[in-house]
Amino acid sequence: MARYFGTNGVRGKLDELTPELAMKVAQAVGMYFRKGKVLVAKDHRLTGELLKDAVMAGLQGVGCDVVDLGMATAPTAEFMLRELKGDGLVIVTASHNPPEWNALKVVDGKGITVSRERGEEIEKLMEKVKLAEWGKVGGKSVQQGADRQHINRIKELVDKGKIAGRKPFLVLDLANGTPALVAPQLFKEMECKVLTLNSAIDGHFPGRPSEPTEKNVQGLIRLVKENGADAGIAWDGDGDRVVFVDEKGNYVVGDKVFALSVLHKLKKEKGDIVTTVATSRAAEDIAGENGCKTVYTKVGAPYLSEEMAKGKAVLGGEEVGGVIWPEISLAKDGFITAAKIVEMVCEKPLSEWVAGLPQYSNVKIKVECKGDDKYKAIKEVKEFAEKEKLDFIGVDGVRVNFEDSWVIVRPSGTEHYVRVFAESRDKEKAEALVKEYEKLVKEAC
Ligand code: MG
Repeated sequence: MARYFGTNGVRGKLDELTPELAMKVAQAVGMYFRKGKVLVAKDHRLTGELLKDAVMAGLQGVGCDVVDLGMATAPTAEFMLRELKGDGLVIVTASHNPPEWNALKVVDGKGITVSRERGEEIEKLMEKVKLAEWGKVGGKSVQQGADRQHINRIKELVDKGKIAGRKPFLVLDLANGTPALVAPQLFKEMECKVLTLNSAIDGHFPGRPSEPTEKNVQGLIRLVKENGADAGIAWDGDGDRVVFVDEKGNYVVGDKVFALSVLHKLKKEKGDIVTTVATSRAAEDIAGENGCKTVYTKVGAPYLSEEMAKGKAVLGGEEVGGVIWPEISLAKDGFITAAKIVEMVCEKPLSEWVAGLPQYSNVKIKVECKGDDKYKAIKEVKEFAEKEKLDFIGVDGVRVNFEDSWVIVRPSGTEHYVRVFAESRDKEKAEALVKEYEKLVKEAC
């Protein structure tokens, strides 16, 4: 059976994710959701509209009623799923990928993103699609104003008084994407002084690539410094991930955005936090100081939302700047995350907040491993950890924990290599750990 679902849905360029395939996937998705009301949204990519039309046709053909949200950020669409009590959601978005890519992200009625594993059930249904009788095909309605509702809800969930009292100066890098539909309005309405960059929505991504890496947000860093702003904020093209630039022009990586979010959340509400095994220990340290537990999941947003849906955790997040606030949805929301951190900036400068976080150094490498050797390498590292009676987490690769450091060995999902990543309070120790585990992997490959 052909596999279409990856970690985050069905992804490809137009000659792979064709309108025909999008329709077939959507038919199976409709059957998987057992008809009902399914929301559909798209980001601003040039292939988005035609793929969205194909998705809607597929869903209606198997009897789903479609609610067309039009162009929306991913967090806006996921928020609307809860608001409208939908039975499911399909977002046509390739998130942080290059402009020629697109993808179908499928979310169930509970707000849980469909993982690769659950995607397999949908793939099976693709082989036995049954169209509805002519009189029972689904209808279609258009829902306008989703951005407005999303902005309003975020404003209800942050301390507007604190922000309006300080009126921070923010530079917003909107990635020429859908974040332009939400972020400028949100922060202007909260009385921030706002300067925007890459604010024209354009599927060619003329300003910068979609992923908000340090290299890609140099324009933002320059503007923050030139204008003496309090912070710079950059989203990926569909707005679920967010990173910051502090008032001195230093890039604040995703891991730190999550750690700051944990600090903010646990001050007000105690509970478990959920994160992936590839995330910095800083978040767990902060949770521990607050008497709260950290639950680790496999890498990938669907696994975070699955864990969050159990209802015990107050916050979830991953190392690339995606944070889940369950009060708004079970999806990463780069706008509420940004608003919460702006709240913190109103108390003291962002650089001081970042300096106050647990400080770790990290080292990341890739080891080439042909074919199934990568899985053999993981198995051997696991056996080594068991034999040495080390404290490890085996949900995704092997993460071995030590008192002030940890190392993870994980197979790449799509390429022929194994990632080795270590983090420690002490840089030399992180380097030594990576060397030690690199050797173990190489011996197995
Ligand atoms: Mg994204």
